[in-house]
Amino acid sequence: MKTLSLVIITFCVLSAGCARQRTVQRTETIMGTQVTITVVAPTAGEAEAAVEAGMAELRRLDAMMSLYKDDSEITMVNRVAGRGSVKVSPEMIEVVDAAAEVSKLSDGAFDVTVGPLVVLWQMKLKGGDLPTAAEISRVLPLVNYRNVVIDRKASTIFLRRSGMIMDLGGCAKGYGADRVAAIFRGRGITNAVIAVAGDIWVLGNREDGKPWRIGVQHPRDKDRTLAVLELRDRYISTSGDYERFVIRDKKRLHHIIDPRTGAPSEGASSVTLVGDRGALVDPLTTALFILGQERGTAIAEKLGVDAIFVDSGGTVRTTRGMAAAMRD
Ligand code: AMP
Ligand code: MG
Repeated sequence: MKTLSLVIITFCVLSAGCARQRTVQRTETIMGTQVTITVVAPTAGEAEAAVEAGMAELRRLDAMMSLYKDDSEITMVNRVAGRGSVKVSPEMIEVVDAAAEVSKLSDGAFDVTVGPLVVLWQMKLKGGDLPTAAEISRVLPLVNYRNVVIDRKASTIFLRRSGMIMDLGGCAKGYGADRVAAIFRGRGITNAVIAVAGDIWVLGNREDGKPWRIGVQHPRDKDRTLAVLELRDRYISTSGDYERFVIRDKKRLHHIIDPRTGAPSEGASSVTLVGDRGALVDPLTTALFILGQERGTAIAEKLGVDAIFVDSGGTVRTTRGMAAAMRD
């Protein structure tokens, strides 16, 4: 009996080894960023079809959630801010709902209505100036996630004040990656990596059965990795001040705005979180970047999310759970 089960086990291992898997990888620009999808499947055709289905889903969500498209649902919501509600897709309700959850958890450090500040900083920096204190205080009252009214039954969103701008740049990537992961699971694809810039779903294993290895970039040296993580069925998100920035008066002016000050957040240079839900972890990363290591660690631990914090002085701190995934 013992011999028989051994034989069966050996046979299974051998046949699993024989069933060769194919890996297909493709990169496209979607959601204003680089999207790379890698799929492992029994045939190249299946892998290719899954990659295309994933890209198509992200393009579909981008058409709904992009501020840079005149006919996107978010543009319509912003256009009638203070005047009327807009019927939106259930996906919009879900993403804004998850963002609101993170706004509450972070005391408003994450705020989807940060748009007027983002626009002000972009506009001023483009012209070579900094926004004045008066300009900032003029738009600050427009930034308040509590003024986003969601009617789930009617599937509508209403922004209470005229001039409000909803910006899903800090949370749409995670929601999109979740959707692609769900589509993959539905197709029986269990081994894949869905990378929407620094927001990445890591599913199953590589073609050779070993875990995927994800490198976390050093915030001050793009050729250096801060850490290599071996992950399986986990979601990883990084927010950093090194993607889009200018230096002015020794200050690094980047794209993550602290709604409490109305200016680019200071104190952190990068935050990486590992969890299991993109729609939550993506906005949470942006939030903890703003809140910093101390408050950030407390929130991450409460939610069972692992974290790496790098402050602007280069000090690296990790939660205990993260250490287990870190490789040299
Ligand atoms: P991420 O790369 O996920 O950290 O998101 C950064 C993007 O989120 C920015 O480019 C803005 O579009 C948006 N954003 C900036 N500051 C905030 C904030 N305090 N709350 C929510 N979204 C923000
Ligand atoms: Mg984010």
